[in-house]
Amino acid sequence: MAELEGLEFGKSDFVLLDEVTMEQFMDNLKLSRFEKGRIYTYIGEVVVSVNPYREMDIYGKDTIDAYRGRELYENPPHLYAVSDAAYKAMKRRAKDTCIVISGESGAGKTEASKHIMQYIAAITNPSQKAEVESVKNVLLKSNCVLEAFGNAKTNRNDNSSRFGKYMDINFNFNGDPTGGHINNYLLEKSRVVQQHEGERNFHSFYQLLRGGSEEMLKSCHLHNDPALYLYTREGSAATVSSAVMSALDAIGFLPEEIRSINQILASILHLGNVSFASDGENIKILGLDSVKHISELTATDPDSVSKSLLFRTVATGGGEVIEKGHTEQDACFGRNAFAKALYERLFGWIVSRINGIIEVKDYNPVLHGKNTVIGVLDIYGFEIFDSNSFEQFCINYCNEKLQQLFIELILQQEQDEYQREGITWQHIDYFNNQIIVGLVEQQHKGIISILDEACLTVGNVTDTVCLESMNTKLAQHPHYTSRKFNPSDKSMDFQKHFRIRHYAGDVTYSVDGFLEKNKDLLFQDFKRLMYNRYHAGHSPLRLSNSFFLFQEPYYVRCIKPNEMKSPVLFDDARCEHQVAYLGLLENVMVRRAGFAYRQLYARFLQRYKMTCEYTWPNHLMSSDREAVEAIITQHGFHDDVAYGHTKLFVRTPRSLFTLEQERAAL
Ligand code: ATP
Ligand code: MG
Repeated sequence: MAELEGLEFGKSDFVLLDEVTMEQFMDNLKLSRFEKGRIYTYIGEVVVSVNPYREMDIYGKDTIDAYRGRELYENPPHLYAVSDAAYKAMKRRAKDTCIVISGESGAGKTEASKHIMQYIAAITNPSQKAEVESVKNVLLKSNCVLEAFGNAKTNRNDNSSRFGKYMDINFNFNGDPTGGHINNYLLEKSRVVQQHEGERNFHSFYQLLRGGSEEMLKSCHLHNDPALYLYTREGSAATVSSAVMSALDAIGFLPEEIRSINQILASILHLGNVSFASDGENIKILGLDSVKHISELTATDPDSVSKSLLFRTVATGGGEVIEKGHTEQDACFGRNAFAKALYERLFGWIVSRINGIIEVKDYNPVLHGKNTVIGVLDIYGFEIFDSNSFEQFCINYCNEKLQQLFIELILQQEQDEYQREGITWQHIDYFNNQIIVGLVEQQHKGIISILDEACLTVGNVTDTVCLESMNTKLAQHPHYTSRKFNPSDKSMDFQKHFRIRHYAGDVTYSVDGFLEKNKDLLFQDFKRLMYNRYHAGHSPLRLSNSFFLFQEPYYVRCIKPNEMKSPVLFDDARCEHQVAYLGLLENVMVRRAGFAYRQLYARFLQRYKMTCEYTWPNHLMSSDREAVEAIITQHGFHDDVAYGHTKLFVRTPRSLFTLEQERAAL
């Protein structure tokens, strides 16, 4: 139960609404919470967070102290309370836990993940052991590095994560961090070579150019103006911080490693400035200086660099190997592919280097006890653009999967608790997006299977042929449509588009490049990760199947209040849409269909014993449970409660209101 903050702040837990309607939900969220500076509200143990778009004075040391070791309902709703709950579950019950943060771009996921990490860092290692401090330091600093290399300004968020991140923190039996591991998913590498209007490349490039020392820039043959480089021309007026270099240093990257990172970034920028001209027959390189710089920075021979940009090696029918000249278009494509691959590897290398530094070393379970984990998942949210490609397909599938887990687990957890406590409980119907997940991942008939099959087929299978195959196999699916079945829909192209009715809205995808991208190793890895029966390691996505046997999830559901990054605007329609597709209303209903409140007997007694003559100031009964029964009976709430093994379960909030009122009146 969330503590009642006072009527002026509405309901601190949505289960306390008089009626579960969208209108009441939105009134509470907007008028009573957001507009009064309350950005967090619970649905049971789920935190609903609205991005305030302004500095809030709720993350200081005093606040951390107020939440440390307390129960969820003892303080106003806060990320710190769920972080503490996850930490306590991990420590008391030696359970692995994870905190799943979801919401659309700009809703505040990454900020939330940082607050969670900061809280955990602040409450652990009270004895200030040097090695633990060092692990905490690396974990916190790594965020800065990951953001520099994996975040970029987009039209929706100035600091948008362009990769998915799952960060594990390992704890010893004392509950102190001993190490960690970062999994990264689906870096949007296409951004290296191309950005939408108004968007920017990854922060790292601007940080290098604007923040790098004169000497370093000179050694990389760079000028400090991003407008001089094709890949950073957009957004060249960017302001940047140079914190990343000191963060790399503090984490333990060696000076020569930092130099190499800069050299690779510089090579990519130079690569973008290589262009090609054709004399009708052959093409030649314009910008040989850039080639020279690349070869110097990557310690390769300039002729080989030129050759690899101009030619490709092909095997002839007769078994010979020949070099074939690129067309101008092919050469540009190759150059961009090279730049993207370089960046992707650089990112992967940085993550693995951080992992090497923070991995748990010399851990002996016999000596040190069970090693437990808290994971924090911050993966980019559901995306609907004017034009949606394979990247959006993967991201939206991932969100679909997370949503499915959310629904399953929230219900599962409820049921588990009732079972544990010996309470009989009636199943209730709830929305399940399994059908959409199936559309994507079903064996043989799902979209991924169809794509894989097309990729394996020898011969000229094009994206359009693949679309045909999807249209044939998925014609009957209620969440799939294409122009073929919807001839009047002019927004779709016959040969190009299909549409999925996602849980969060309809998305029209263009199949252009689907096959090519599906072959890409990274996506293969991602897909495997998402739907394999078994996935080793600590990814929460392995939970998709054996999930919840091991890890106890906590949820943060982030809402973006407006598109203007304004601290005062609450766009009703946009917010209502998010509340709807995040399934928050259903979440409240599920929570209330069972028992809105549950509380340990001792705690319940502590709070309400003054409302009953048999329990005030002390009771003479043989157990706390009997004493609680006395309170309930005296108030006539007998039909509204169930008695579990350790907790009292209260069905409707009203009984509790009455008790609260009586308590306040005394
Ligand atoms: P994306 O999916 O694009 O990565 P996101 O959900 O991670 O988006 P954030 O980067 O966390 O979004 O938040 C966007 C911006 O909103 C932040 O840069 C910050 O300006 C503001 N913001 C988010 N949460 C808070 C907060 N708790 N307090 C103050 N400002 C916040
Ligand atoms: Mg983010």
